Amino acid sequence: MSVKVGIPKALLFYYYYPQWKTFFTKLGVKTVISRDTTRGLLEKGLQSTVDEACLPVKLAVGHVLDLRDRVDYIFLPRMVSTAVREYICPKFLGFPDMVRNTIEGLPPLIDCNVDLYRRGSSPYEFFYSVGKLFTRNPARIFMAYRASFDALQQQYRALESGKLPCETDKSAIGTDAGQYSDLRIAVIGHPYNIYDRFISMNMIGRLRENGAHVVTADQLPEHVIRRESQKLPKKLFWTLNQRMTGAAYHYFARPDVHGVIHVASFGCGPDSMTGELIERFARRQTRKPLLNLTIDEHTGEAGMVTRLEAFLDMVRWRRSLEDVAATL
Ligand code: SF4
Repeated sequence: MSVKVGIPKALLFYYYYPQWKTFFTKLGVKTVISRDTTRGLLEKGLQSTVDEACLPVKLAVGHVLDLRDRVDYIFLPRMVSTAVREYICPKFLGFPDMVRNTIEGLPPLIDCNVDLYRRGSSPYEFFYSVGKLFTRNPARIFMAYRASFDALQQQYRALESGKLPCETDKSAIGTDAGQYSDLRIAVIGHPYNIYDRFISMNMIGRLRENGAHVVTADQLPEHVIRRESQKLPKKLFWTLNQRMTGAAYHYFARPDVHGVIHVASFGCGPDSMTGELIERFARRQTRKPLLNLTIDEHTGEAGMVTRLEAFLDMVRWRRSLEDVAATL
């Protein structure tokens, strides 16, 4: 029977799952992902974490608990940096330690470092450290790494063709009316917030049901994000927030995007700064509607739905005014 590695459906799962799954599969290791988020799963996470943690971290703890008794290892890579001279939020860095010190009865954690901060560092160092746990054959690890890298490139191509990360595996979020949508709305937020249907209260699905075509930062090529984020007076050293800011600036400038929604987590320091940067840009450089939403464990679904519907009504109303103005 093959070894089972559990992967929590949380944090950077939405970016890297196809790559991680391919790597483990090529090494003959079975991957098990935690179940979709539910109220019960979130509650378990809330009860096992410190109050100061942000919502996505609390939720990730719930996903670890969901895997605890079903797998031989839990995969919690210690995400330090995924780009040169940039960092991932420090909460990712300490996450494996937090889990180890707060949850009892865990299987061994695979918490090797992903650290690409220094120029010349390679993701292969991380994959080699993980692969060594399952085989002594370096060639096999290298082949698995190459295949995983191809899977990641394939995921990037799928995203740039218009898919969302949650649609590159089995589950789709609602139905996109595509060319029949009268609105195109950019949803800017951390992947673990906007693609988790429970935490986002199915925001993307609801926008789609209301006739909007949704675009996100993840569908933009890296060079576009980098170019746009250079509009900031100073480089942000948090990779995820730089992505969000660059994508928001890009979508504000696109005539075929009619509104932008920024989604932040309650208790997230980087998000409060990103929100401010996006809002200032919206005020000074564009007349495009912006909706700022902050989500936490107490956010009510009814309030969220009302705000989304009101936002879409306002965007449509503005468009109709612009159409009238164009005929004068
Ligand atoms: S970036 Fe914000 S939401 Fe994400 S882990 Fe860090 S504090 Fe939490």
